[in-house]
Amino acid sequence: MSRFEVVIGLEVHAQLNTKTKMFCGCATSFGHTQNANTCPVCLALPGALPVPNKEAFAKSIAFGKAINATVNKTSIFDRKNYFYPDSPKAYQITQMQLPIVEKGHLVIELEDGTQKTIGITIAHLEEDAGKNIHEGDHSKVDLNRAGTPLLEIVSEPDLRSSDEAIAYLKKLHSIIRYLKIGDANMQEGSFRCDANVSIRPKGDSKLYTRVEIKNINSFKFIQKAIELEVQRQIDAWEDGVYAKEICQETRLYDSVKNETRSMRGKEGAADYRYFPEPDIPPVTLDDEMIKTCSIIPEMPDQKRERYIKEIGISSYDAGVLTQEPELAEFFEDLISHKATPKMAVSWMSVELLGRLNKIGASIETSPVSSQKLAKLMTRIEDNSISAKAAKDVLDFLMENQIEVDQAIEKLGLKQISDDGAIEQIVLSVIQKNPSEVEAYRAGKEALIGFFVGQVMKESKGKANPAVVNKLLSEKLKS
Ligand code: ADP
Ligand code: MG
Ligand code: ZN
Repeated sequence: MSRFEVVIGLEVHAQLNTKTKMFCGCATSFGHTQNANTCPVCLALPGALPVPNKEAFAKSIAFGKAINATVNKTSIFDRKNYFYPDSPKAYQITQMQLPIVEKGHLVIELEDGTQKTIGITIAHLEEDAGKNIHEGDHSKVDLNRAGTPLLEIVSEPDLRSSDEAIAYLKKLHSIIRYLKIGDANMQEGSFRCDANVSIRPKGDSKLYTRVEIKNINSFKFIQKAIELEVQRQIDAWEDGVYAKEICQETRLYDSVKNETRSMRGKEGAADYRYFPEPDIPPVTLDDEMIKTCSIIPEMPDQKRERYIKEIGISSYDAGVLTQEPELAEFFEDLISHKATPKMAVSWMSVELLGRLNKIGASIETSPVSSQKLAKLMTRIEDNSISAKAAKDVLDFLMENQIEVDQAIEKLGLKQISDDGAIEQIVLSVIQKNPSEVEAYRAGKEALIGFFVGQVMKESKGKANPAVVNKLLSEKLKS
């Protein structure tokens, strides 16, 4: 057991999928010619004035509701001053003193099944920067992204391990996806995470020096970066150089070298010379809007509870199936097509997701629809095919756009359930194995397995096992 406790607080920047930018009418969509989606406001031309985006507020209210937070009727924008080429104003409009959302929390499930509540200090609206593109000996600036709305979600330093950090991020990710307020795509940068990490001797309640690791673009890398940083701090402590080596700074994670390294000393709030944004008066929302936007769909936690209580599946399975709204939708489709919950769970989470994983597809791009998977399950239940054959059918469906019954036909996997046909085979097996029959009748009942095996072999695996068993025990008795 380590004598240290790990303390982590996360800052997530989630892009909101509004049609237009945070303070101007430019489109937020991707893939346009560089600098095409710009105007005097997001180019910071003199005299251009920002106007806050109502849709961004609507989406933030929904988020606030989903994390049980306070949604402030009035919020204020501030200027955070810094110079960087991708930010033409030389400041960012953000919210510091009075954000739209504060004092929320969400619940994470830990490995051992217990739950833990993680505080969310604030979630505030701000604008994204543009992008610097480095090409050989020169750099270019693309301002298409400049001014895209971001919701920055800041957690309390409540997380105690990299596993807890990942569970928290996944829950946050899933809430944003359920609310459909953003794509939360890590690779594309619409869900970015900075991890603040410190350690302290167990039992100590004060916060020690935090190191911030910036812009890590996958769950796997976040986990690794945190673990590396924790180890670096513990090593420094053990070696007696903690005070000298661990300072408040921003570090970058290098996934190739698997190390973190110093990027810059951490600026304090004073360095940014925050002051209230003079071009935007405080924004006061009307009660009607807050009320309407607070009506949100069923969230992952509620859905999970419902799956456990009403559909009767395990807490683990319910957790897997509710992580993404598309997974839950697919599962509910299966159930509405009358699949039994137990079968739906295993055919979806083991068989289908396993196969999708192999080809790098997601449930949204699955070549097998929920309708087809449900149909396949009914074919197992009505004894048209065995469960084993159904796996071959599923393999075939993954690669061919074909109806389930056609696939069964084509693969010649239709099960023989017809009593007459199976009876023929049973009688022939009995006839061919007189000594085993005698031994069975003399009391060696374990031989039933041998007979079943012979019948299955003669039917090329297509005989319905239930019918085989029934007929064998009948015929062997007489
Ligand atoms: P900044 O903008 O300077 O990064 P924020 O207040 O936005 O500051 O973010 C601070 C983040 O760091 C929060 O998530 C907070 O929980 C976390 N944090 C603060 N102190 C510590 C600490 N000693 N160890 C780990 N995390 C910390
Ligand atoms: Mg920070
Ligand atoms: Zn613009």
